[in-house]
Amino acid sequence: MSIERKCAICGTIFMANKYRPNQEVCSNIECQYRRQLDNMKKWRQKNPNYFKYKEAQDKSWKETCRQRSLEWRKKHQEYLKLYREEHRNRHRDYMRDYMRRYRKKKEKMEHGDSVY
Ligand SMILES: [Zn+2]
Repeated sequence: MSIERKCAICGTIFMANKYRPNQEVCSNIECQYRRQLDNMKKWRQKNPNYFKYKEAQDKSWKETCRQRSLEWRKKHQEYLKLYREEHRNRHRDYMRDYMRRYRKKKEKMEHGDSVY
């Protein structure tokens, strides 16, 4: 049985996985990414001293931190790449449409005997 839910970010209705009935975000990559950022932010707010504490506890913590941020950056870059590709396609379609309309309008204006 699936549960119908509304995405907390984009508002799309989606079917929640029956194993995760509390899922709040659809499977859209942008929404998933934002949810991750949100989770991180919330977690940091709940554990404001976590990083400081760990650093004092463990000398290798800095290395772990560095490793993590490298991993995160890699993921982030993958996301950005996907996003840019999608955006580029959209922009290209938009420009093609725009130019088509522009040329039509121009033609009409040059052969002044039409609509005007
Ligand atoms: Zn969504």
